[in-house]
Amino acid sequence: MTRIVVLTGAGISAESGVPTFRDAGGLWEGHRIEDVATPEGFERDPDTVHRFYDARRRAVANVIPNAAHRALARLESGIGPELLVVTQNVDDLHERAGSSNVLHMHGELRRALCTWCGARPAWEDDLADRPPCPECGERMLRPDVVWFGEMPYHLDRIEQAVVSCEVFASIGTSGAVYPAAGYVALAAAFGARTVELNLEPSDAIVPFDDARAGAATELVPAWVNEVLAGS
Ligand code: NAD
Repeated sequence: MTRIVVLTGAGISAESGVPTFRDAGGLWEGHRIEDVATPEGFERDPDTVHRFYDARRRAVANVIPNAAHRALARLESGIGPELLVVTQNVDDLHERAGSSNVLHMHGELRRALCTWCGARPAWEDDLADRPPCPECGERMLRPDVVWFGEMPYHLDRIEQAVVSCEVFASIGTSGAVYPAAGYVALAAAFGARTVELNLEPSDAIVPFDDARAGAATELVPAWVNEVLAGS
């Protein structure tokens, strides 16, 4: 059973050198969200969107997990499957730090989605040159990233964990993107203790029981130590 749900956002990867977008005035690496993170943007200009995610995929391959990702992996080593990490991030830094119980609700950069047959193959290379799908051979691959207006992944499993957990911790997320932003209220309504670890207090719709402001690489290892000491 899930005892602790940790929701992570772009802030946890910031100190690994992966920029967040809300901190950059609503731009993601200089691009407008409507252009690179919506189905309409992809329909309008697929070449730009492919080039954008190809660059993100390459950039993420060249960074390493930081102390916050490693601390969550240490927490999983300590309490096992009682910890579920739900991430909004499309990077794979949690897995590379050693976490295995991770749900990517907004998809993964290192996976492609075939819009013809629905296959979701692991993907390391560029998509801009329209490689064929390894399953059906059609050249209809897109990044397996959930764009604004699309349905996030694993919602049933996440909601089930959020309503039954004892502790809900939100790390490095601005609380601006739904449905993730609503999970703190849901967890609180079902009796969980809620904790926020973020550079600055977020715009959460309900106050956290414990809100700590600071860098993830400092706050997360300290919080994990407390949890392990108390369990
Ligand atoms: P977000 O909404 O999760 O906001 C980032 C939050 O992190 C802000 O509240 C900021 O104060 C906080 N933060 C920044 N640096 C921090 C640090 N060092 N320690 C602790 N907190 C810190 O994220 P976003 O950038 O608005 O992105 C939302 C969506 O964009 C994601 O859900 C994802 O799909 C996509 N995205 C993913 C990545 C990634 O995979 N690393 C990066 C950028 C955007």
